[in-house]
Amino acid sequence: MRESIINIAYLVASILFIFGLKGLAHPRTAVRGNLIGAVGMLIAVLVTMIDQSIISFEMIIIGIVVGSAIGAIMAIKIPMTGMPQLVAIFNGFGGGASLFVAGAALLEANITGSATGTQMTVATAISGIIGAVTFWGSLVAFCKLQEVVVSGNPVQFPGQHVLNILVLLAAIGLGAWIVVDPSAVSTYWYMVAVASLLGILLVIPIGGADMPVVVALLNSYSGLAAAATGFVLNNNGLIIAGSLVGASGLILTTIMCKAMNRSLANVMFAGVGGEVVGGAQKGAEIYEGKIKSTSAEELAMVLEGAQRVMIVPGYGMAVAQAQHPVRDLYNLLEERGIKVEFAVHPVAGRMPGHMNVLLAEADIPYDKLLEMEQANSEMGDVDVSIVLGANDVVNPVARTDPTSPIAGMPIIDVDKSKTVVVIKRSLSPGFAGIPNPLFAADNTLMYFGDGKKAIVDLNAAIKEG
Ligand code: NDP
Repeated sequence: MRESIINIAYLVASILFIFGLKGLAHPRTAVRGNLIGAVGMLIAVLVTMIDQSIISFEMIIIGIVVGSAIGAIMAIKIPMTGMPQLVAIFNGFGGGASLFVAGAALLEANITGSATGTQMTVATAISGIIGAVTFWGSLVAFCKLQEVVVSGNPVQFPGQHVLNILVLLAAIGLGAWIVVDPSAVSTYWYMVAVASLLGILLVIPIGGADMPVVVALLNSYSGLAAAATGFVLNNNGLIIAGSLVGASGLILTTIMCKAMNRSLANVMFAGVGGEVVGGAQKGAEIYEGKIKSTSAEELAMVLEGAQRVMIVPGYGMAVAQAQHPVRDLYNLLEERGIKVEFAVHPVAGRMPGHMNVLLAEADIPYDKLLEMEQANSEMGDVDVSIVLGANDVVNPVARTDPTSPIAGMPIIDVDKSKTVVVIKRSLSPGFAGIPNPLFAADNTLMYFGDGKKAIVDLNAAIKEG
């Protein structure tokens, strides 16, 4: 009876997770979706608490207090621009938790002499391997994005793929040993150590612009590790929740790969994405004598003659926290009968949905946000496109130079609008580290300055005009 109630409660929680995820698929329903998912999680946690398997509530309370304190400090201290690192490290903690729970379950079964069937031992091995890969892979991703210890560029050496395969086989071999002999608890920790090495080796060769795909993939792995731990504990709630995270992470990975026009295998094994091709010197050659800079007053006059404006935000808008002045600009232009829309690239910023979150925070109407394909199909009719702190996502080199680290990545074709205005502080490259010929194009005006100050000044000039 007790077991049935627990399973029904887990089922209700799982249904709420699914509706929550569905809600998160659209900005308008996202807040409600988040709430529904949170209620589902509350039910799952409460049910787990009343389940008889709880050993000590004191330990749980200590864990909650310590974990909440660390989580709150991290969330408060990290700037909005550091969100991708935070997401990466949180994925890692999920993987780490799964491997410790699976290891503890194996140890407990050995101490109490309880049965260790094939399902449990296979799931324990899988949880240990994926959990360790997720934890260490996420830690490397965190360090790369934060640029601590390791550089953001790919780290490659001869025989890397062969070494990876050997390490993977060693981890699988140790996992098989646990299945054959579940009393070998220490083997589990050897397997975890080998899988940890694999996690590091798998992520170090991935560079620069490919990090969004890796973070999404590690997110998926953390779900798979949790699902495997669900099989270890025979916990239906954990199996379903883990599978949902695994599947949604995989969908996000596919979307990010598509946005960069790369296959997952290419991202994982090609080791591109961070090299500076040609570097600063090439930039100087491209820009020499061709840069036309503009001012707030001149730009206000250009906008006066426009009927249709497309704003393309990028990472620089997040750094400058310019979203609220952008909202004022939107209002000012719309009041003057100018149609204003926003073109959002899927990998703009430093995390999936980064720009959408900022624009929603500034109350920009959702129906003014165009997806890349739609924005590109209408670019020929746009009088002025305003590129605000974006660089790689509008770099035409992606279309023209097959040797570029962003070759083949679909971009927002602002160069096809009548006039392009690029707002940024200098001619420095973006995340991929490459120069951008858009800045030197005939129809481009550079408006140098901090994104927020530039838009505030522009708004003032429009009001005066
Ligand atoms: P980029 O990183 O290409 O360029 C951002 C530009 O913003 C820089 O060139 C910088 O120029 C400018 N900038 C920085 N601070 C300011 C400021 N205060 N005011 C005005 N401008 C500023 O950004 P994009 O959004 O175009 O492209 C995103 C890149 O990040 C892609 O390569 C993507 O692959 C990668 N990435 C994306 C992730 C995701 O999940 N979305 C995660 C990790 C990486 P300057 O210094 O001259 O001002």
